[in-house]
Amino acid sequence: MKNYDGKTIFEKGRPGRRAFFPEDLNKREIRQIEVNIPNKYLRKSDMFLPSMSERELAEHFINLSQLNMSVDTNFYPLGSCTMKYNPKINEKISSQEFFRNLHPYMDKRDLKGLMYILNDFESMLCSMFGFDAFTFQPAAGAHGELTALIIAKKYFKDKGESERDTVIVPDSSHGTNPASAFMCGFERVVSVKSNEKGEIDLIDLEQKCNSRTACVMITNPNTLGIFETKIKEIAGIVHKNGALLYCDGANMNALMGIARPGDMGFDFMHLNLHKTFSSPHGGGGPGSGPVGVKKFLKKYITEFLETQKENAVSVKAFWGNLSVIIKAYCYVKMLGFGELKNSSVLAVLNARYLMEKLRNVFVLPYKSPCMHEFVLSVNPSELNGVRTLDIAKALIDRGVHPPTVYFPLIVKEAIMIEPTETETKETLDNFASIMAELKNMAKEQPQKLKDAPCKTPVKRLDEVYAARKPVLCWKDFLNSDKQGFSV
Ligand SMILES: *Cc1c(COP(=O)(O)O)cnc(C)c1O
Repeated sequence: MKNYDGKTIFEKGRPGRRAFFPEDLNKREIRQIEVNIPNKYLRKSDMFLPSMSERELAEHFINLSQLNMSVDTNFYPLGSCTMKYNPKINEKISSQEFFRNLHPYMDKRDLKGLMYILNDFESMLCSMFGFDAFTFQPAAGAHGELTALIIAKKYFKDKGESERDTVIVPDSSHGTNPASAFMCGFERVVSVKSNEKGEIDLIDLEQKCNSRTACVMITNPNTLGIFETKIKEIAGIVHKNGALLYCDGANMNALMGIARPGDMGFDFMHLNLHKTFSSPHGGGGPGSGPVGVKKFLKKYITEFLETQKENAVSVKAFWGNLSVIIKAYCYVKMLGFGELKNSSVLAVLNARYLMEKLRNVFVLPYKSPCMHEFVLSVNPSELNGVRTLDIAKALIDRGVHPPTVYFPLIVKEAIMIEPTETETKETLDNFASIMAELKNMAKEQPQKLKDAPCKTPVKRLDEVYAARKPVLCWKDFLNSDKQGFSV
């Protein structure tokens, strides 16, 4: 039974209550620094901090920590953002002192070990994905996309083709693709249609690709979880028009050790180390989105070994988010190419197994065999008005993290499922039977689903209101005359 009263620590605190922490147990000398802060900036009264007894304090934070649903506590079939289990040994290794205390300005001789790791990791990624170099700088997938598009801009400027102002994305693309193109200053983002198989419509692509096209961004397998079987033809169309073909590599969990984007005709790509290579993500990061390029684009990326190259695109200081990179490196080293391939095989097998179990429970809009994820659709007119959102909320009551919903945009009432390779048959069977139970409930007691979740400390939220009018601070602070807080 979760013990949650919804009160903040500030509401619970009472003056004079104390918890005891001996200050000098872990004695390290703290140097007092003299600073002259002008009087007008000094606080006039004590800071308003809550006071609590030690047991209350422990209770408060332990209870809060137990409200969380996480990849360690519940099945998490998210979809789109591969959310796989994060092996704890990677955390242990990356938090060792010899990694924690590294500094980019250390003597080069002391960085040899790190350089070995980055070099080794880069060459593993190159051979695994079919590219000639990687930069580890970008801090997320979207950051990698931006890096790649800046590279594309420079490349065409150098070629004297600055009139290329268009980026093409499929209508199933992740929202970051068009957003990155706009952020990078491309004037036009053009969308190509998907056909009835859920793959890119080649005729539409032919018509839209021309001498103004700088880059075509493709996710393969795409966000429906379907492999673009015509990828070579797509590359042909793109290259015939002098444009670059970019691979959004967020879905590499389906392809590790099986197929290489570099062999499919892609000129550059990003990886999401925090998806495919099991570094934790969520809550805003940190992440890592290395960008791999073919030889002819190599001069545009910043590699870790060199001092600034004239043409190189630098998007972050030094090596990027090093601890994330090290966790991913541990993962790759621990599994080796053979087991990485096996994990992709299992990820696809698990997704296909669930797809078969669920294809007659809800609607399966695209019938091609899926890769590591698949998309279902809920039809409210057959289910007393019960929508995907209601199903997602009801899953929480049953101990399952809701999958990604209402994405990709080309599927109505979409529900996107990605079990990942670590799940057992029992977990998958249990999930399938929960989904079947929810469908029956939608037919017999729809109101129960519309009221879900009912076992959580906070019931159904008004998500639109929460997004439009976020209250990010306990409201009494706003009216408080207490010093020390600004909003
Ligand atoms: C997650 C994802 C991205 C963005 O990556 P971030 O690391 O979240 O910035 C881009 N494209 C696809 C298909 C994704 O799933």
